[in-house]
Amino acid sequence: MARLDILEYPDPRLRLQSGPVEAFDDALHQFVEDLFETMYAFSSLGLSAPQADVQQNIIACDASGTGHARRVFINPEITASSTPGYVQETCLSVPGRKGLVKRPTRLSVRAQDTSGQPFTAHLQGLEAVCLRHEIDHLYGILFIDRLWLLRRLGIRARTYLQQRQAA
Ligand code: ZN
Repeated sequence: MARLDILEYPDPRLRLQSGPVEAFDDALHQFVEDLFETMYAFSSLGLSAPQADVQQNIIACDASGTGHARRVFINPEITASSTPGYVQETCLSVPGRKGLVKRPTRLSVRAQDTSGQPFTAHLQGLEAVCLRHEIDHLYGILFIDRLWLLRRLGIRARTYLQQRQAA
């Protein structure tokens, strides 16, 4: 097991589109274990492969945060989602930022498990919100893209200033 390095905004690699997993092999199983290890190390409820600079459609979630509700979604596809509500979100790839994002509170997905078996899942509450956030990462979308314009501009300005101070 190894803890993965997480890309941070505004790294352009976070904007890449991920592709489908085709090999359900030992390397995939190991990578999924590493995703979980990294996710728990940072007390996060979800982590996607592109955040670790692996542009593949792989997501780890545990909305309980305890290690008892581990879920893996490979090549997920949303099949239905409910009317959204607003939830407060954060992201390991956008440290120190949070904001209210419109997310569905119910979500149905089709995905594959780590052995390639297809399954359908109907999620609700935090689990649905969490998976929807991670699916965004597969398309290069960050939660800050879904904030109100003024809030987005504020985050961009602060990131720019911090980078100038660090340079
Ligand atoms: Zn995230």
